[in-house]
Amino acid sequence: MEMYEGKAKKMIPLDEAKLIMEFKDDATAFNGVKKAQFKGKGVYNAQISVKLFKLLEEKGIRTHFIGIAGENKLIVERLEMFPLEVVVRNIVAGSLKKRLPFKEGHELEEPIVELYYKNDALGDPMINYYHAKSLGVSEEEIKEMERIALKVNEILKEFFKERGILLVDFKLEFGKNSKGEIVLADEISPDTCRFWDAETKKSLDKDVFRFDKGDLISAYEEIYRRISE
Ligand code: 5GP
Repeated sequence: MEMYEGKAKKMIPLDEAKLIMEFKDDATAFNGVKKAQFKGKGVYNAQISVKLFKLLEEKGIRTHFIGIAGENKLIVERLEMFPLEVVVRNIVAGSLKKRLPFKEGHELEEPIVELYYKNDALGDPMINYYHAKSLGVSEEEIKEMERIALKVNEILKEFFKERGILLVDFKLEFGKNSKGEIVLADEISPDTCRFWDAETKKSLDKDVFRFDKGDLISAYEEIYRRISE
């Protein structure tokens, strides 16, 4: 694999089994239409991802995290990635408002899991099991990703609740390792999760950038501070 540069990260081959995942300061929203740079964002997202991957590993979730290679660089396991995004939602926000008759902030009785096809040219469309199968992802593989995603939700929801933060929704990506196991990959950060302060309901995530709600770095710093306590 050659070096791969995405919108917010670079994947650099290290050896046969490992990659370096480098977090950039670039931010994009609305499928790349809105762009900016925030000095320090890469470091916060890397450090927050490390803490959350370690927490999930302790709780028995298999992740691609191996180690740290720098303040904005992680060493991760090489995987064959599924071309999917798995979104879990606890509270109504974002694109869910266009799908169900609930207002922003409505607490769902049960978490909702959604599948999206990771494809910029198509704008990451929502898909179902049939679409996924046509893309080479079996029903068993999706069921396993959904099972892991719901377990991650239980662990993270509790962890953030204890720190005065509501886990509104988040996006996960998965890959398969050389043993054929499904492994949690990518990042878990304020770029990929919605976090609200439990009291003020203030956004502490990328919505600050998407909807010009204030200073992005102070929001990310606040998340880092609360999970480091
Ligand atoms: P929504 O569908 O409401 O836009 O997003 C749901 C959740 O998944 C949000 O926490 C959002 O940050 C995350 N998410 C969905 N798609 C993407 C994506 O392509 N990139 C990133 N960084 N996050 C995403």
